[in-house]
Amino acid sequence: MIVPRLIERKRDGGRLEPEEIRELVLAHSDGRIPDYQMGAFLMAVYFRGLDGDEMHAMMEAMLESGKKLDLSRLPMPRIDKHSTGGVGDKTSLILAPLIASLGVAVPMMSGRGLGHTGGTLDKLESIPGFRTSLSLVEAERQIARIGCAMLSQTDEIVPADRKMYALRDATATVEVIPLIAASIMSKKLSESLTGLVLDIKRGSGSFLPKLDDEIELAKAMIDLGSAHGCPVVALITAMDRPLGHACGNALEVAEAIEVLKGAGPSDLLELTGALGVAMLVLGTVTTTLEAAQTLIRDSINSGKALLKLEEIVAAQGGDKRVVRDPTRLPRAPHQEFFTANRDGVVQTVDPRAIGYGIIALGGGRRNMEDAIDPSVGFVITAKPGMHVVKSQTLATIHARSESDLAVGRSVLESAIVIGDHAVPPLPLVSHRVTARGVEQLA
Ligand code: URA
Repeated sequence: MIVPRLIERKRDGGRLEPEEIRELVLAHSDGRIPDYQMGAFLMAVYFRGLDGDEMHAMMEAMLESGKKLDLSRLPMPRIDKHSTGGVGDKTSLILAPLIASLGVAVPMMSGRGLGHTGGTLDKLESIPGFRTSLSLVEAERQIARIGCAMLSQTDEIVPADRKMYALRDATATVEVIPLIAASIMSKKLSESLTGLVLDIKRGSGSFLPKLDDEIELAKAMIDLGSAHGCPVVALITAMDRPLGHACGNALEVAEAIEVLKGAGPSDLLELTGALGVAMLVLGTVTTTLEAAQTLIRDSINSGKALLKLEEIVAAQGGDKRVVRDPTRLPRAPHQEFFTANRDGVVQTVDPRAIGYGIIALGGGRRNMEDAIDPSVGFVITAKPGMHVVKSQTLATIHARSESDLAVGRSVLESAIVIGDHAVPPLPLVSHRVTARGVEQLA
């Protein structure tokens, strides 16, 4: 393999053979190709793209670079849910215990906050003692015992993606649909799933801004799943405003627990319900929407889902008393209400501004090495379309200091726009994409 010739061919719009892609990916993963050559190749891909065969070859090579969770002996379906990332999106924290409580194995490998978006691992780690870095063997045992593990990508799982993703991040080559699809699906297929539900975000706070791109990404991931006998269902959902009220790690854990206790904001309940139904139907626990909804309701009302969360927290070394008493979560020393400065209608609650605002308060990272303060963030009750009057409370700021309260105030002043008329928000769940095609739902 002469790497400059491969880079050159891609740069000039040609295609690589599957075996060439495989060699390139595995050689980079093993350290036989330096980052500067792989970086140049990725930039060529950024401009020229990958065709279907190249994308498949890339994902297969990534999978080949590491080990898989071996769950094949489990008698139950194995279903995960993956979101392309948002602000206030704590659905994983609710769905993992909820769906596991209904007899489905949920091997949930999650990420950390990326850019303005939050990460499930950071949220979980706000529970005192909670350990997300499980070995493969530990995760396999835990899933066999209690039906669920919530873990980070380890050195053993798709190391080629781990290395390439860090390089993409450093070389501005993340936003390429076939690379995103291969990267996400290599991790998901290493969980030996029998089905995967994708939550692909659209709107100003999403990763890919255009609906056509989101649908193309969904189709690419469905394709990669099909090649491994793993059916994938994608819902395209709104991220033009934060999901639910709580935005910030410990605050989101508390809101997820509220949902598992039968309460919580309506948009969060609706989206969690839609994703949960898709997981149960894909897992063939039931065939109808109504039956799946009943199972979800019963698990929450009976306390089974909450009990499952307690089991997961205890199994991963966390303080399980948090589940019954969320006041045990880290709490910021300063809180302040944020109120409307005029009468009118809420037009925008900008998720990107809120996400970066959490980082400014210390609740997210500027660099991968940064420590985060899990207690800080916002609880925003204002939603687009809501009529408000001057001085009405729109949000609460949770901060480490008086000066950070001022930072929070200025974040909310620019993120929450009040006008004279409503600006229609995106439908919460707008499309379902499956191997059969695209269905518009709203
Ligand atoms: N998340 C991933 O895991 N990979 C990507 O390429 C983008 C988001």
